[in-house]
Amino acid sequence: MLAKATQRIRTIRFSTRTAVILFIVLAGVARLGLGTTCSFGAGEITIMCPLGYLQLSLANRTLMPGLLISAGVVAVIAVLLGRSFCGWGCPAGLARSVFKRDRVKSAPAPDNGGGLPGWTRYAVLGGTLASSFALGFPVFCAICPVGLTFGLLFALVRLVETRQPTLELLLIPAVLAVELLVLRKWCKSLCPLGALLGLLGSRSKVLLPFINTEKCLAATQGVDCHACARACPEGIDPRQSAPAVIAEDCTRCAECTGACPTGAVSLPVLAGEKAMVGR
Ligand code: SF4
Ligand code: SF4
Repeated sequence: MLAKATQRIRTIRFSTRTAVILFIVLAGVARLGLGTTCSFGAGEITIMCPLGYLQLSLANRTLMPGLLISAGVVAVIAVLLGRSFCGWGCPAGLARSVFKRDRVKSAPAPDNGGGLPGWTRYAVLGGTLASSFALGFPVFCAICPVGLTFGLLFALVRLVETRQPTLELLLIPAVLAVELLVLRKWCKSLCPLGALLGLLGSRSKVLLPFINTEKCLAATQGVDCHACARACPEGIDPRQSAPAVIAEDCTRCAECTGACPTGAVSLPVLAGEKAMVGR
């Protein structure tokens, strides 16, 4: 049985991500032309995935000022909130959470590397940008789990409307299954969007885990607890990981707060320097 707090947090995250997906799909069904989380907006006001923008810009060898502003808005949010999109908005994360088993009690201590070196996702990011420049199209967008998830949902909508099955109904789930189930370390170690958001948020101090050492069993009684670390899907140990690593990797998912038996972990809106290093 999951702790109540953890279950509540997961329910809130599940509901948030489901609401985003439903809103976008219903807007598509109603032909409102608002787009997807890759590029979303109405009229002159749009926001755009910064990785999509970088790839397009390199592929076309131009800055595209209109899109630069749209992507810049998201980049500013990422500077403040790092990888929050991974924890709260990404539909691929939602799909993974459906298949993920209860980790709070049974998972081993985090390896902080996911079996792959920490630089892997940055290498994927560099390869993504270089290949987009060389090949003249946004390479990662073709296989991005976010775009594929919406592609699949819209293909299902078309199936209902036209009753004509299309090949994408087979191809998209196959690619998504490889990315999210076979490549289990996708989100933490391979996703170039997560890498870019983490880099942008690497100086953030907003909504990052803070340990109240007066409540922590390990700090006050020397108990070999590590429940917060075991709960973290990103392999972070909120007590011991370096602040820079936490800022870059944390998705603000709040799993660690629910896992702590004494309520010692919180995600304060703004963690001061003392709080960040004083865990
Ligand atoms: S440190 Fe806490 S909030 Fe951050 S990713 Fe890990 S479990 Fe989620
Ligand atoms: S789960 Fe709570 S008590 Fe256990 S090590 Fe983490 S902060 Fe300390």
